[in-house]
Amino acid sequence: MKYLSIIRTTVHTKYLFFLRYFKYKISGVNNQDSINFYLSKNESPSLEVSVKVGCGLFCTYCPQSNYIESFKNRYAKDYKVLSKMVFQSAMKNVDTNTLIKWTGFTEPLDSKNFPFFCEYLKNNSYRQSISTTLKGTTKSVRWFVDNIALFSAVTLHLPDSDGLMKCKVDGEYINNLYKVLEVRKNKNLDVFLIGKSFQSDVLKVIENCIRDGILNKKNIIYAKVLNTRNLSIDAESTGLTNIQFRDKISDTKKQKKDSYYCAYRRLNQGVLLPNGRVTLCCQDYKLEYILGDLKNEKLDDLYNKIQTSEIDNNLFLSGDFYPCTKCEHYRTIDNSFTGHL
Ligand code: SF4
Repeated sequence: MKYLSIIRTTVHTKYLFFLRYFKYKISGVNNQDSINFYLSKNESPSLEVSVKVGCGLFCTYCPQSNYIESFKNRYAKDYKVLSKMVFQSAMKNVDTNTLIKWTGFTEPLDSKNFPFFCEYLKNNSYRQSISTTLKGTTKSVRWFVDNIALFSAVTLHLPDSDGLMKCKVDGEYINNLYKVLEVRKNKNLDVFLIGKSFQSDVLKVIENCIRDGILNKKNIIYAKVLNTRNLSIDAESTGLTNIQFRDKISDTKKQKKDSYYCAYRRLNQGVLLPNGRVTLCCQDYKLEYILGDLKNEKLDDLYNKIQTSEIDNNLFLSGDFYPCTKCEHYRTIDNSFTGHL
């Protein structure tokens, strides 16, 4: 059964890969380098937002300390919490066709300005989605529960039975969870678990909601494979026994010097930091490649930076672009997929 599912996924991803590959070729672009960059980006751009430096949940499988340390080393004097002023000046450089994703390196509801940010985006016609643990400041959690219709997609990352996520589950948490599931009723909502099972009270809510037709079983995602976040975590450091970590392309294979691309399509999905800088992607917890400062530069320009810089362009296509060299999604264009097309 397991092997059948792997074969099915592989065939399906290959199909998607070639569909996009040939669609682009047919459109008249025959330059292989442009095709690589096209496939390294999603159809429409998005921007993840990290509302602060440091997340109180300290999940075992999150390289949070890398993020905190790197930010402090790089930007010792900068804002560590996203302010209204920084957010507004950054958003002036973001087109409204950009999907704003409330996720990034920290829990988005852990900002007291979260309602302000979301209202601002709504009033300026941006689409927004969210991935949340439902933990944060009381005001922001309440506001979120009351305004959930504002988000085009919602992922609830919920606490597990082994305490891998340091999340206190109390009566209020359970009420909020019920309310979100009831209001949303399966509509663009996924429930996500890393671990063996949901925390016992959360599990009861989930079972009741499935019974009452509020939550569909197919919307519950049990993580089977996790990203290493550019080699920041692995099975040993996280203690996760029921989860696999993707393998990086082997160095022997790499010597072939094939043409490379980002199979995770993250070259137009950076992460906004609390000081207005944008880092390469959600794998870059160590902030090793900063695309630029969104307070002063257009997001579109930042997303074209690697492609338009002769040096970075060459490095990227030849498989030597750092920190992608540490990432399992950095693949050769001819035959490598990681399932995100
Ligand atoms: S680090 Fe990985 S996911 Fe991020 S842009 Fe590079 S290859 Fe893509």
